[in-house]
Amino acid sequence: MNTWELQEISGLAQSIQLGQGSDIIHWVSKGQKYSCKAAWEAIHCRHSKVNWANMVWFSNCIPKHSFCLWLSCHYARWTRDKLHRFGVVGSNRCIFGCGNVETIDHSFFGCRFTGAVWKQTLAKCGFKRIVQPWNGEAKWVILRLRGKNFKIWITKIALATCIYHCWMERNSRIFRNEFKDSISIQNNIWSTIQNKCLGMTVIEDNPSNRDISSRLLIPDWLLEPGPTRC
Ligand SMILES: [Zn+2]
Repeated sequence: MNTWELQEISGLAQSIQLGQGSDIIHWVSKGQKYSCKAAWEAIHCRHSKVNWANMVWFSNCIPKHSFCLWLSCHYARWTRDKLHRFGVVGSNRCIFGCGNVETIDHSFFGCRFTGAVWKQTLAKCGFKRIVQPWNGEAKWVILRLRGKNFKIWITKIALATCIYHCWMERNSRIFRNEFKDSISIQNNIWSTIQNKCLGMTVIEDNPSNRDISSRLLIPDWLLEPGPTRC
């Protein structure tokens, strides 16, 4: 019991004097049973859905990668601009050697290093466009990646995977002094996407999906008539 709300409930419940006979404590209303779910529903605050929710959380996403993307959407990463302001690090410069200040917008994907990784990955998914810093890129994703077809799904998977691998590379450069080039990072991203696709039962066989599958080396036998099934 590690929230003040539950501790308060526990304290109040213990001070209730039960009489002899039929006095019973009920949860919320008479006859309703206590469960962690019911407690959570009763005490947590509901907020309206953010416009980027479907970009981060969707059917058959990779939770670890979606969590990384979720942190980025909240601008909740300890980038070097913040750490430098607090005096934790001596430099606020991007670790990819471009000379700019490391911020969320720069890291995803205003930096020419991470921007090239994302641009190449987008091309594999069938999108050719000029990549922007995160505030612009997120707007494009929210507007463009709507719907549930295979191309939309795989591009959302690619975005979260790209952000995860770029952040991991940034950390490995800073904390372990280990450097990978952009080609190795791209290969790691694409092999993660391929493995994710191998977990699908069917990819709808149409020209667009065939192109994406051939560029990402996804096996032909996953392509079949009928809607994509994850
Ligand atoms: Zn940079």
